[in-house]
Amino acid sequence: MRKRIVYLFLVLGFLMPMASNVQGREVTYTATKQKDAVVYITKTGEKYHKEGCQYLKKSQIKTTKKEAVKNGYGACKL
Ligand SMILES: [Zn+2]
Repeated sequence: MRKRIVYLFLVLGFLMPMASNVQGREVTYTATKQKDAVVYITKTGEKYHKEGCQYLKKSQIKTTKKEAVKNGYGACKL
């Protein structure tokens, strides 16, 4: 029984810092990425999309977020 509790604490102690680490890294990553993020626009749409968006199935033109915004594209809500 005691062993089990020790194990639980070990797991928690291991997972907690990892979880906060991942979060911190994610934020930094997004922040640096936003500068010149690659996004995709479509031939007919008025939105720019992230890679893998379902709207990109028909057509996808690679550009940067900066360019897309400059050309009047809005962010895809998906
Ligand atoms: Zn989209």
